[in-house]
Amino acid sequence: MHCASVKPGVDCVFMNKKGCSFNGGKCRTIVESCEGCDRVLIWEEASYCGSFPDPAAKWRQGHCNLATHVKKEKKDNGNGKINPLKASKRKAAGR
Ligand code: SF4
Repeated sequence: MHCASVKPGVDCVFMNKKGCSFNGGKCRTIVESCEGCDRVLIWEEASYCGSFPDPAAKWRQGHCNLATHVKKEKKDNGNGKINPLKASKRKAAGR
């Protein structure tokens, strides 16, 4: 159902006929780490996340997985070398 409180028109799983069923009855505002993210929505001079009702929870275990302003670090095997088996397979596949 579409939100009828802080994010009007945004489809939300917490919205039902009785209103917002999220803890506290509305989304929580963004945290400092969210600043710069394209998913931030501003409503009545407060900023909310367009994807999560509780942005602080998304940052508790590290980076938010949907943040648009954080570059993902490439996985590295620690020594900067390429796995020769994978490189061989890539070469055989023509990539
Ligand atoms: S997607 Fe993540 S970083 Fe972006 S506003 Fe939402 S909680 Fe914050």
